[in-house]
Amino acid sequence: MNTTMKNHPEPGGGSQRVEFRVQGLSCANCTREMQEEIQRLEHGQDASLLYNSGRLLVDPAVDLQQVERILKRDGATLIKPDYGFSKEAAAKVEIGSPAQAGAAAAGTAGEAEEHESRLGLWLLVLSAVMYAATFIPAVPGAVGIVLDLAAIVISGYSTFLRGLRNLIRLKFNMDTLMTVALTGAVIIGEWKEATLVAILFGLNELLEGYGMNRARRSLSALLEAAPKEAVVLQGERETVVSIARLKVGDVVLVRAGEKIPSDGTVLEGTSAVNEAAITGESIPVTKQPGQQVFGGSVNSEGLLQVRIDKPYEDSSLAKIMHLVQEAQDKKTPTELFIDRFAKGYTPAIMILAALVILVPPLLFGQPWMKWVYEGLAILIVGCPCALVLSSPIALVSGMTRCARLGVLVKGGVHLEQLGKVDAIAFDKTGTLTKGQPEVQREIAYDPQRFHAVAASLESGSLHPLAAAVVRHVAARSGGAERLQPAGLVTLPGVGLSAEVNGVRCFVGSEALLAQLSLGGEERARVDEDLARLKAEGLTVVLAAESARVLGLFGLADELRPEAPDVVRALHRAGVVRTVMLTGDHAAAAQGIAARSGLTEWHAGLLPEQKVAHIQALAGRGTVAMVGDGINDAPALAAADLGIAMGQGTDSAVETADIVLMQDHLGQLPRAIRIARRAGRIIAWNIGLSLTLKLIALLLTIPGWLTLWIAVMSDMGATIIVTLLGLTILLGKDPKAGNSPAVRVASNN
Ligand code: ADP
Ligand code: MG
Repeated sequence: MNTTMKNHPEPGGGSQRVEFRVQGLSCANCTREMQEEIQRLEHGQDASLLYNSGRLLVDPAVDLQQVERILKRDGATLIKPDYGFSKEAAAKVEIGSPAQAGAAAAGTAGEAEEHESRLGLWLLVLSAVMYAATFIPAVPGAVGIVLDLAAIVISGYSTFLRGLRNLIRLKFNMDTLMTVALTGAVIIGEWKEATLVAILFGLNELLEGYGMNRARRSLSALLEAAPKEAVVLQGERETVVSIARLKVGDVVLVRAGEKIPSDGTVLEGTSAVNEAAITGESIPVTKQPGQQVFGGSVNSEGLLQVRIDKPYEDSSLAKIMHLVQEAQDKKTPTELFIDRFAKGYTPAIMILAALVILVPPLLFGQPWMKWVYEGLAILIVGCPCALVLSSPIALVSGMTRCARLGVLVKGGVHLEQLGKVDAIAFDKTGTLTKGQPEVQREIAYDPQRFHAVAASLESGSLHPLAAAVVRHVAARSGGAERLQPAGLVTLPGVGLSAEVNGVRCFVGSEALLAQLSLGGEERARVDEDLARLKAEGLTVVLAAESARVLGLFGLADELRPEAPDVVRALHRAGVVRTVMLTGDHAAAAQGIAARSGLTEWHAGLLPEQKVAHIQALAGRGTVAMVGDGINDAPALAAADLGIAMGQGTDSAVETADIVLMQDHLGQLPRAIRIARRAGRIIAWNIGLSLTLKLIALLLTIPGWLTLWIAVMSDMGATIIVTLLGLTILLGKDPKAGNSPAVRVASNN
């Protein structure tokens, strides 16, 4: 029957939950209610039913038939991927292979959802035709009434059934209100209006479901990037296996046009590989033996043999997809506010409706019929549908668009914040610069020892400068003595220190000089050489042994070619302050800052001083920090928004709020513009839905509110809110490769 999709370790490390897609979740409120019901089932206590991404996470021991029954009542269904094998077999194969099941289920979900909404649409059209027929003069009155009633039943029966059930359980939600209002209208003889209301409400529901499905489905498009099968080579034999069976160490054959099944290393063959699914970058990258490839990227030319380095569920693509899905379900403060509001709103409206029905006739001797009618109309105003929709469609659309650009936004909150950013701070090395510095000059006082100490210590560091030093020494004196450093300690923002044969050695910036007690003459010589290198704008790395400086390296790192364009585009997108925070010295910092067009820069900073600067910036607005996690992780965490470079340290990528998958800054301005637009649309949507409600309510004072105005006020808002939210998906995405930033790169 139903097939599981993905395993989710519990945060507490306990039982595992399995994941299903759920189609037809048409409203956030009913989703929460259904979740509560599922949680009351045996083994259901940990269940999460997630509205934004349309998923159910649940203990596999739960009785799925009961879950289905609960879902069905509100018109939702579990997706049954069509694998043609039994539930047990499917579960065995599919657990741990999110992508395959994900892609399959996404396809099934799309089709099933489309089918459902087409049927709903036809029923509505049918009832609309019946309703219209009652206006034909030749149709006798009695037939008209029958037609009206039939139309009400066809378009409103599902709402009615749900409403009735809720009424019996004294649960008051939208369906209850509609049911009471429709029944009341029929009883006081307002058939025609009741019919119109039922049809419009049905249309409204259909639209609601459609909007959210569209937003969710564009994410499924990402899932389609997931490979499904792989061709494993065993000697001469080729075997086709499902992605789930792929093991680390398998050698797979990837033909032109096929997807690379999982992260791995090229063994044989050279080809252009398109990594757009992972990085958003659509210009193919040439891959040669020894180079890393991503699962989900497409081999566009030759034949490649790839050794699999990670099982699929640990591959970059699987992680991205998981992350994007999780991201959709984190509620933003705005959404939480709306939820709370909606919870109180519906009951408040019911009380108001009761007052409107009772007070004028009882206290002011007004006619009952008129005020019963007004009261019923007010009940219909009790639907918070447009309001509840105003945020999620826009957020999901915005995050999906960003994901397509290779900008992973890990939650609606962060998208909202990205839209509000006033200041962006950048780390220098690896962020504004390419992070591939080269040693340009060296001044050695004891060449042999200098190289040996520098290379041995630096080989224990992740810093881009360290890699450059190691490379340089290997090229110059391949045979440099390999020392055995002991007790290596990182001096954050300064360098490293370790014991070599009982002697304390240091490698790092000039800040180290303060720790060494150098003789006056030696100090003067080192200072002079330092000044010379710094005047050339070079970053200086020195190596020292107890109280003796062994030598100086002068390194230069190229500015990222896209940096000036990006900074300009950021300013155009409304970012007021662009700031560089670096641990490097002022002369090196200044050149980079000036060439990239930043508004300010601060040099010679230790990690905690970077944090202090972020805090100062935060006092004046929303601040984002972009960095690679080396010596700037605390600053990334301190900023309102931490943005990590895709090739930064793993911990930075994991803890950041936003990840730039392409490892360049090119798409950041566009992402900010998308976020700003989403923010504007959400604010406008909320304003619009509330205003229309208020107008409808005010209309009752003169007694002008009619049932159809009441339903139209919500439907109008729903239409606008849905369409506006979806427009975020539409924007043209000039392929990453065509942006000016990257063109510069390819010309160089
Ligand atoms: P940035 O802010 O430009 O990314 P960091 O804060 O990472 O720079 O480092 C600041 C300075 O500390 C570097 O310019 C360098 O002089 C020194 N430094 C830090 N780590 C190392 C290392 N592993 N090897 C050599 N120098 C280092
Ligand atoms: Mg850095």
